[in-house]
Amino acid sequence: MNVVIFGAPGSGKGTQSEKLIERYGLHHISTGEVLRDHIARKTPIGQIAKTYINQGQLIPDSLMIKILEEIIDNEPKAKEGVILDGFPRTIPQAEALNRFLAKRGQKIHHVVGLEVPEEELVDRMIKRGAQTGRADDNLETIQNRLKVYHESTTPLRDFYIKEGKYRPIKGSGSVEEIFGHIAEAIETATEKESPNF
Ligand code: AMP
Repeated sequence: MNVVIFGAPGSGKGTQSEKLIERYGLHHISTGEVLRDHIARKTPIGQIAKTYINQGQLIPDSLMIKILEEIIDNEPKAKEGVILDGFPRTIPQAEALNRFLAKRGQKIHHVVGLEVPEEELVDRMIKRGAQTGRADDNLETIQNRLKVYHESTTPLRDFYIKEGKYRPIKGSGSVEEIFGHIAEAIETATEKESPNF
């Protein structure tokens, strides 16, 4: 099973990914974490990524798609099922992902969309910034990230609704409560697609 966890910055994608990994044994790929790791190791990709991330902008599609494809191809566990956290973030990334998976006889099964009110997103990211020191969790960058999310990433919701893969989830409440809704949505959709699952 391949899952995309989708939602605005601060919507809880990382937290819920951990729960999904625990329950379904998926391999976690967080493009934000991959990029932060490149920055920490001062690699050439890290040098490029840093300028975009610090401004709250997206890394260009061509580079991001190449990075993602290399990760999937070089990770043997990815064949058993992945949870993609932070990718795709644009329509061209989603289209590239579909083509890439189709070539390998695979597909995305579920897109879990965490829906959280905007004021709550800002509060959560400010708190995370204070706790972790994450460089892009400051008010100015948060506002840019939300603007970019609305412009470039929200169209993916309709893209995946049309593909019949979008599972909307109310992303406010306790971690356990939200995860309960996610598991229920995934299992209901899986049963509908293959009743003998
Ligand atoms: P995240 O940890 O998912 O919030 O990502 C942190 C930052 O990494 C984003 O604000 C972007 O600058 C960059 N980034 C992560 N994933 C992508 C992606 N799929 N496309 C472009 N930029 C990305």
